[in-house]
Amino acid sequence: MAALALALLLYLSSLLLPLDYALRDAGAWLTTATIDSDIVIVEIDARSLAELSSWPWPRGYHAQAIDRLLSAGAKRVFVDIDFSSVSHPAEDAKLESALRRAGPRKAILPAFHRPASSGSRELLLSRPIERLRRFAELASVNVWPGPDGLVRELPMREPGGQAGLRAAAAVLNDWRHPPLAPLLIDFSISPESFVRLSYADVLAGRFPPVAVDGKQVIVGATAVELGDMVPVPLYRTLPGAVLQALASASIKRGPLAAAGVGPVLTVCLLLGIALTPVFRKLPWRWGSATTLLISVLTMAVCVYLVQVHRLVFDGAAVILAVSLTYLFHLLARLDQQSMRLWWQRLELRKKEELITNIVGNSLDAILTINMDGSIESMNPAAEQMFRRTSGSLIGRSIGNFIPHMVSEKNGAASWNEMLLHGQVHELTANSDNGDTFPVDLAMSRIEVEGTQLITAIVRDISVRKEQETQLRYKATHDSLTDLANRDFLVSHISECTTNAPNANAALLMLDLVQLKEINDTLGHDVGDLIIKQIARRFASTIPEHATLARIGGDEFAVFLQADKYTVLELARCLQSSLQQPFYAKGIALRAGVSIGLAYYPEHGHSSQLLLQHADVAMYMAKRSGAPYQIYDPALDHHTVRRLQLAGKLRSAIDENRLVMYYQPTVRVDGTDVLSVEALMRWEDPEFGLIMPDEFMELAEKSDLIGELTDWTLDRCLAQYVSWNSETREPAIAINVSARIMQDSAFSERLIRFLDKYDVDPRAITLEITENAFMSDPRRALETAAKINQLGVRLAIDDFGIGYSSFAYLKNLPIHKLKIDKSFIIGMDHDTTNDFIVEAIITLAHGLGLEVVAEGVESESVYQHLKRMRCDQAQGFWISRPLRPEYIIAWWRKWQKRQRTLAVRAVDNIRAGSAR
Ligand code: C2E
Ligand code: CA
Ligand code: CA
Repeated sequence: MAALALALLLYLSSLLLPLDYALRDAGAWLTTATIDSDIVIVEIDARSLAELSSWPWPRGYHAQAIDRLLSAGAKRVFVDIDFSSVSHPAEDAKLESALRRAGPRKAILPAFHRPASSGSRELLLSRPIERLRRFAELASVNVWPGPDGLVRELPMREPGGQAGLRAAAAVLNDWRHPPLAPLLIDFSISPESFVRLSYADVLAGRFPPVAVDGKQVIVGATAVELGDMVPVPLYRTLPGAVLQALASASIKRGPLAAAGVGPVLTVCLLLGIALTPVFRKLPWRWGSATTLLISVLTMAVCVYLVQVHRLVFDGAAVILAVSLTYLFHLLARLDQQSMRLWWQRLELRKKEELITNIVGNSLDAILTINMDGSIESMNPAAEQMFRRTSGSLIGRSIGNFIPHMVSEKNGAASWNEMLLHGQVHELTANSDNGDTFPVDLAMSRIEVEGTQLITAIVRDISVRKEQETQLRYKATHDSLTDLANRDFLVSHISECTTNAPNANAALLMLDLVQLKEINDTLGHDVGDLIIKQIARRFASTIPEHATLARIGGDEFAVFLQADKYTVLELARCLQSSLQQPFYAKGIALRAGVSIGLAYYPEHGHSSQLLLQHADVAMYMAKRSGAPYQIYDPALDHHTVRRLQLAGKLRSAIDENRLVMYYQPTVRVDGTDVLSVEALMRWEDPEFGLIMPDEFMELAEKSDLIGELTDWTLDRCLAQYVSWNSETREPAIAINVSARIMQDSAFSERLIRFLDKYDVDPRAITLEITENAFMSDPRRALETAAKINQLGVRLAIDDFGIGYSSFAYLKNLPIHKLKIDKSFIIGMDHDTTNDFIVEAIITLAHGLGLEVVAEGVESESVYQHLKRMRCDQAQGFWISRPLRPEYIIAWWRKWQKRQRTLAVRAVDNIRAGSAR
């Protein structure tokens, strides 16, 4: 639309005129033709000028010429010569009479406008002098050049005051009422169409009369020197007479009419609108062709209109409108395309930048390498990776950095193999300063401007390798001790037995004694410290070729290829490596180890079997208290039994298969006070009587211990009440797990039981081992204080084998110490422990505590303890643990025995004093 508007604007502002003229001219030129014309031009040509006397000629010549022409039959004679001034009167008279002779309308003389004076704008009509114009018809010969300086049209009549004066062409064509609009001269009429006679010939009568018979004759100057030349299109200049002839011929042919603005606008609009969608779709070539075609067609139509319908249609506007419409479309499309192109280029640049960035910032080294192995280019990462010292890498052989790539065996030529399928190769690389490091290498072949190159992407995988090693290490090692773990041990055993199936080997399973207590009471951090120390001792004990592993919380294992003697020796060494105490948080701790041994190949071919059998042996060592045990197939049922017991404990509680036995404790001074210690038994229909040492550990491990404690309290208090109803009550000591000291709700439960049976709290003593106070002592002390507040007493059990710190005991709200039976049992024949027992008694008394000795198996020990001023005694010599119903009977017997003893003692004293 903009194109259309522009075209119309140009058209309406007449700026298209030159184009239109050019179009008209082209059309005229293309259709120039000679036509039959009734006009004869008598030329005042150079020849005539030369032949006749000097110019201006005497007017008698013209009179003679008119006479000759008219007498030859000319229809009319138009003498296009300026007669506006008087010449020689005789000559004027000659012409006047010639004109008179010619008769009306036969001779025509010119009139024209000229400026009043030179430079003035006022025009004066210049006419032939009076005497001449009387007998001749006047015709105007005004010629006004158009905007391009050329004469294209002639006015057919004088406007305004000079009405009645018609143009020569109108007069010659007897056009009485020509329109005001000027006549468009049809330049397609060739000037050759007019018969021309030379003036001199006419004057001399040298012309055939037939040439002028019935014709209209125009006499005028054609000689250039006479200056009557008019600038015209196509022919540059034409003599005025010829122009008049052309105008006259144009009228004869049919006057040309201008189509005017309306049709031009209409055609422009219609074409512009119709073509807009066409141009939008057509490719530019077709668009151009269409535009050209329409332009040519327009020109053709213009010519056609002129030639056939005598209509002048200014096609320039149409051609311009079409061309501009097309051009605008093309520009718009070009614009779009160039925009798109611009975008694409921008995208491309971005991509390029991105790639440059990626390559530049890549942590991987990216290199291009010539086929001879020399480095062509590289990114900064490559420089970093290989060139730790200065100097460019360019031009150097890649073999300097990745020897495998250009080695003698694997020359650059065999890269084909390495390029296969973009495989990643794990290789070793060197940096310039000689460091070696592992890399991943991926290569691909590229072609740049006909040159084959290799791109190599090299990734430093040191960190990954390191991590892999660490992971592998972590997967096969124990984090606490840095020793191998179970997985490692298993695969190591398999490996060794596969590699040397005939070598003798052994697996030693080591289980730490007391570690559980340490963990429970001192906390895991202390336990961990001890385990670390133990691991170090073990590690320094085993021979170099042996493998030490930590396979569980407190379980270690050693695998070695050796003979049995060496293996047993090692077991003993491992045992004794723990003799020295361990120190953690300022406390000296002891740990023991139970060792189970399984021999290869005797006790199993697979690592699994060896582990299983060493485990059985270890468990047996633990139970028997032996330092080590060699696997014996006969032992195997013990582990089975252990598993079965663990499974049965729950139902044992529910089905009331647990029973309490009571073991009396007596006062050594003979005082008549009885107390009993409650000891649990498990009566199983399948296994018979099971002792607490065997199942208490299982209860602690399976968390049934809490329930078991409640069950025991309930049982013991109920028993206490039933004794009470029969006779005088014995005080009752109940063993409780060290764990209850960490249970802040325990004292409340205790109150509930005391309330339930309405028992005097002072009759109840709870026995706990001293490690109950070791982990979280604050909480343990709180619980102890609460128990104490209730009136329930506390005794420290197994004193002497644990931490045995008196400094510590001092602050505990306890009443009793029970010296562990291991100090007591052998006292009658071994005096090594006497000092310890005596010291414990003295110190305990110093703290106001009562002392109980357990494990009194003989009278001599009993007497010994009596001498040591021990307060109470308990042991098989006094009584084994008994079912509750036997306690009262036993008590009577004991009192009787005491009395007998007392009598015997008195007798002895008497006998002694008698002697
Ligand atoms: P303990 O508290 O040290 O109990 C004394 C252990 O020594 C008892 O073993 C008893 O039968 C045994 N004994 C007593 N006099 C002698 C003697 O003269 N010579 C020898 N060699 N041994 C003697 P028992 O009944 O097998 O109990 C073992 C351990 O089981 C107890 O050691 C105690 O720690 C635990 N225990 C027993 N009953 C219970 C219970 O109801 N609850 C808790 N938490 N633990 C219990
Ligand atoms: Ca006890
Ligand atoms: Ca004990």
